[in-house]
Amino acid sequence: HHEQLSPEKLVQALCQADDVDAQMSQLVQLFELSESERRLRHLLVTLFQEVFSEFFPGCAILPFGSSVNGFDIHGCDLDLFLDLEKTKTFQASAKGPPGAQVRMDVLGTKCTPLQAEEGAGPDSDSEDSILSDIDLTTATVPEVLELVAAVLRKCVPGVHSVQAVHSARRPVVKFCHKDSGLLGDISINNRLALCNTRFLQLCTEADERVRPLVYTLRNPFGGGPLLNNYALTLLVLFFLQTRSPPALPTLAQLRELTGDGNQAIVDGWDCSFSQDTSRLVPSANTESLCSLLAEFFRVFGDHDFAGCVISLQEGRALPLPSFLLSEVGAKLKLGPFNVQDPFELSHNVAANVNEKIALRFQHCCQDGAKYCRSLQYQRKSSKGKAWGLVRLFQPGVLEAGELGLDGLLITIPFTLMALSPGSRQQLCQARDFRRCWFDKVCAAITFVLKDVLKCSCTGPAGEPTEQGGGEQPIVGSKHPRSDEGGSLSVSPAKKRPRPEGPAPEEEESVSWSCAVWHRVWMGRRRVRRQLRHLGSPQPDAEQEAGSLEVEEKVSEAIIQQEGDSMGSEPLLRFTACARVGGGQEDTRTLLCFTPTPQQGLLFQDFYHFLQGFLPRMVERYVGRAAWGGQ
Ligand code: ATP
Ligand code: MG
Repeated sequence: HHEQLSPEKLVQALCQADDVDAQMSQLVQLFELSESERRLRHLLVTLFQEVFSEFFPGCAILPFGSSVNGFDIHGCDLDLFLDLEKTKTFQASAKGPPGAQVRMDVLGTKCTPLQAEEGAGPDSDSEDSILSDIDLTTATVPEVLELVAAVLRKCVPGVHSVQAVHSARRPVVKFCHKDSGLLGDISINNRLALCNTRFLQLCTEADERVRPLVYTLRNPFGGGPLLNNYALTLLVLFFLQTRSPPALPTLAQLRELTGDGNQAIVDGWDCSFSQDTSRLVPSANTESLCSLLAEFFRVFGDHDFAGCVISLQEGRALPLPSFLLSEVGAKLKLGPFNVQDPFELSHNVAANVNEKIALRFQHCCQDGAKYCRSLQYQRKSSKGKAWGLVRLFQPGVLEAGELGLDGLLITIPFTLMALSPGSRQQLCQARDFRRCWFDKVCAAITFVLKDVLKCSCTGPAGEPTEQGGGEQPIVGSKHPRSDEGGSLSVSPAKKRPRPEGPAPEEEESVSWSCAVWHRVWMGRRRVRRQLRHLGSPQPDAEQEAGSLEVEEKVSEAIIQQEGDSMGSEPLLRFTACARVGGGQEDTRTLLCFTPTPQQGLLFQDFYHFLQGFLPRMVERYVGRAAWGGQ
């Protein structure tokens, strides 16, 4: 097993690098497969080759995808292609003479010890092999895949959770290697993937800047709902093709380098290109990684993805009107994000990207571009602050950065509306009106995080409620349940040292350190509807949707529906820090969220949810809770 790289270690390693270029190269070293991981993959491939050869004489097991294309990361899946071309030829030539299908016997002997197999039909006797009646030239893909699954289940040791998935665009058999936890896929009709794997490999060999750039961009974008790794990688390659001067050749140029005799047609697509890096003219592009990354953001923050098709074949964005008139143009599924596969030209590898995701990608790029113009990006901090890539991986960092805060900001406005007349009066009479309000909001935040959203929190640290001078605090100094709950540990107040006498309010800040264990921000509306459906026919006013009680129940229901899937690690970790707004008259509470790095999109989701949810709930809480702490 590979030891998980902790966010803390990552931040530490990156902060110690000398410059952004070094940070980017470091990312590759931190994430790429280790020697032992590679060895294990190699052994597995050899094992599979051995076993499958007995069942499918002449077959080949060929790894493709991230295990071999140069963009591997710890624990990435193992994509395998089972090449049955030769086996088919054997089978065809063996046809005719009865009993010529030699391998069937091999199969039979090999697998009969493991009887009681579901694979065997009622009519087949135990001597029968799994392969017995199948003719590979006429068999359907699902039939062959079921066979592959049967071989995996019965004859490959150390493999479990074998399942044929027929519904995917490229049907596969999934499996899991028990000892390592490695997940893998076997496909049988995906020869094009071998070509694009080789193409990606070639690009990493052609220019050493390719890998650091892709590894860096995978952090904010990759693997998640924005773009799959393949599409993102192609986008980076396209970007490098279109620099001036180009950093990578186009596929058309690579094709010109191949000899005429070397044409390779796969599934009807011309997949020939020169595989020989020594024939490539070295690129004249000398841009640094640091500036390439900034340029990537700038270029794609302002790119019309919907209005053209990104072509790696030609190394340019094809305008839609003329593209649509072409033969492949008529077949390619257009969407808000169009990236043409380099070989299967009628395939949009980003066809799954919807409007919302495309927009988010664009905004991410714009934010990235903006950040990359700042000194914090370009210069290492001498004070040990986060700089360079570290801050880039914390989404929304810019917004708060402008206010002099680190992290993501949520502003909670002051509202008299929520308060009862009595509370209003008390508040207005308070000597320190702003702090009094702030205390209330902090108590509310604690309640929402812990009780409503079921996060585990330590804190609040900072105790905002103690007042200078001998005056009675208006709000009790204990926040409701802030220190309760069995599994919660409470970190001691980390109050900033306060000078004697009344403290300037701007110094006051309160912080929480939280872990989120469940996706309590997802599907709340649906659960709310379910609860309303189940509940009493005439809910009283307090039980209305949006009340604190209902929202607590919604979280509980979500947690219950998720089942006991709670791992040993939370989904998200973050710290939140609240303080009173800057100006003298400012009664707003500024709440700043700092996620631990590497949580990119998931945290962003959560944050977007909180932006709407938290101020609403805080308002409910302060409106409801007895004012004055009695
Ligand atoms: P990782 O598994 O680390 O996310 P990967 O490149 O292996 O990265 P997979 O989704 O496992 O990604 O896909 C394996 C291979 O299948 C890719 O490398 C690519 O060759 C091909 N592939 C994946 N997605 C697409 C797609 N949308 N269109 C065409 N080919 C694809
Ligand atoms: Mg993969």
